[in-house]
Amino acid sequence: MLYSTLVEAYQRLEATTKRLEMTDILADMLRRADLDEIDKVIYLTQGKIHPDWTGEPEIGIAEKMAIESIARASGLGRDEVERLMAETGDIGIAAERAMERRRLGKLGGGQLTVSDVYNTFDRIAKESGKGSSERKIERLIGLFSEASPLEVRYITRTVVGTLRLGVGDMTILDALAIAYTDSAENRDILERAYNLTSDLGYVAKTLAREGLEALERAKPVLGKPIRMMLAQRLSTPQEILEKLGGVGSAEYKLDGERFQIHKMGNEIQIFSRRLENITSMYPDAVEMARRYIKAKEAIVEGEAVAIDPETEEMRPFQVLMQRRRKYRIEEMMEKFPIALFLFECLYVDGEDLTLKPYRERRRRLKEIIEETSRFRLVRSIETSEASDLERFFEEAITEGCEGLIVKSTADDSLYRAGARSWMWVKLKRSYQSKMVEPVDLVVVGAFHGRGKRAGSYGALLAAVYDPNEDVFKTVCKVGSGFTDEDLERLPKMMEEYRRGEKHPRVDSLVEADIWFTPSLVIEVIGDEITLSPVHTAAFNTIRVNSGLAIRFPRFTGRWRSDKAPEDATTVAEIVDMYKSQLKTIAGEAEER
Ligand code: ATP
Repeated sequence: MLYSTLVEAYQRLEATTKRLEMTDILADMLRRADLDEIDKVIYLTQGKIHPDWTGEPEIGIAEKMAIESIARASGLGRDEVERLMAETGDIGIAAERAMERRRLGKLGGGQLTVSDVYNTFDRIAKESGKGSSERKIERLIGLFSEASPLEVRYITRTVVGTLRLGVGDMTILDALAIAYTDSAENRDILERAYNLTSDLGYVAKTLAREGLEALERAKPVLGKPIRMMLAQRLSTPQEILEKLGGVGSAEYKLDGERFQIHKMGNEIQIFSRRLENITSMYPDAVEMARRYIKAKEAIVEGEAVAIDPETEEMRPFQVLMQRRRKYRIEEMMEKFPIALFLFECLYVDGEDLTLKPYRERRRRLKEIIEETSRFRLVRSIETSEASDLERFFEEAITEGCEGLIVKSTADDSLYRAGARSWMWVKLKRSYQSKMVEPVDLVVVGAFHGRGKRAGSYGALLAAVYDPNEDVFKTVCKVGSGFTDEDLERLPKMMEEYRRGEKHPRVDSLVEADIWFTPSLVIEVIGDEITLSPVHTAAFNTIRVNSGLAIRFPRFTGRWRSDKAPEDATTVAEIVDMYKSQLKTIAGEAEER
């Protein structure tokens, strides 16, 4: 197919904003494409040379480089090209005008094929290392010299990334259905294949070469990301259970980043929620996937969460975002380790599981994963009771999660690739607020440390004081904020308070590894105060079977040896803080 045929269609596309017209123009163009070029036609029309997630290099021509190439190809000089740019405000038109007025060479004859253009773009993309800019420019000049001025317009826009024809993925799918099956009604079949592979070029090529039946049998393809299933939202457990037909499987909604992991023997690819290829950013996840996914080939999904290296407690999302980088990857990996909590199994050794119901996918997931503390299935409970959901929700919040995702367990609970489906319903906290004041807490217990903290404590169990009952009630486990020196000192400092079992004045549902006589007071700051079924402070005060807890607590570095344990923050104060937090939120909501 000649590139000029494509360019002609581009011009017609630019002249309309009506979707139906666009579809017809595209269908007409696709019919004329050679079968083995059709994927290239699609990618070029999207302004690229392959899907974004391949991890392959992009064309990568900066505007400056394009100007340089136009100047050299036309012999007009940089200043003049820049002036044309200023006049037209469009680098494509400027390039076209420059070639029309060129002082060098003869006009391109319009004989360029789609493959010529595509292959040159591909070579430009693959140039790397020293002198690569110059080589990219030379290749582009070569292409310009064979193209007509109008073709130069679109080539230039494509290489600098401004070819915006306004055709969406769905319009392309419609056009493909019309061009190759004569009926827009088959769009759904194409769409499913697209949702499973995220690759329009692949869908087009399969359709053009093997026909609709091949797409009807479409399965996930290792190495091509499946478009991810998303959740709807409701605000109460009752509503959620009703929506799901009375029963559902509630999973922690972890506050991290979604990973879709493809295992192909020893090779691992990881895709993000937006289908970016993020494999190189997470060598630790790659290693865990290689080791702990027992199937030879598999596609699984889970949430990666930043964790405290010593205590393995979850850390907020912002911490994980430190891992989103291209450089100093190893260093960040040491500093901000992650755990992976898996919740989906979409493909195992040739078998497409997207068409199997939830319970079966979950069962297969369990079978193929060798669980460790940092690579395991997400916590879940199956229930028909709203009160169970409530408790589980509070537990999730206390552990640093965003809430729950409650999933349908019905026979039709398939994996809906690319859909925001009512098969998954999320329950999130309806507010976001910061705890402003630090609190003084009494250390009542401790947990053994691991890794760097072996021999010291991984976290302390901390409590507030209840003057009415004269007991200490737990509000959090605090493992963050301690320096190496603090950690070294702690066991020695606490030795004199250590005891064999829980102190009678300590009220705790949590089982600590080591118990102390309440003595030492430390200052702690958290993100907010939340309801919690595991901590005893204000138990049954705000809600039945719930206490209050501090979310994401950190030691501020201040040992309050000036305070006796009875001088610590009281239960009443924590309740007040919780209530004023709610008021602030209500106030903010009103302002909005
Ligand atoms: P949000 O801001 O709520 O994350 P979103 O549109 O990005 O909105 P949602 O559909 O609301 O996505 O929620 C799904 C996201 O929740 C997933 O993409 C995933 O990253 C995350 N998640 C955490 N835990 C789970 C879980 N157990 N099952 C499914 N998704 C989970």
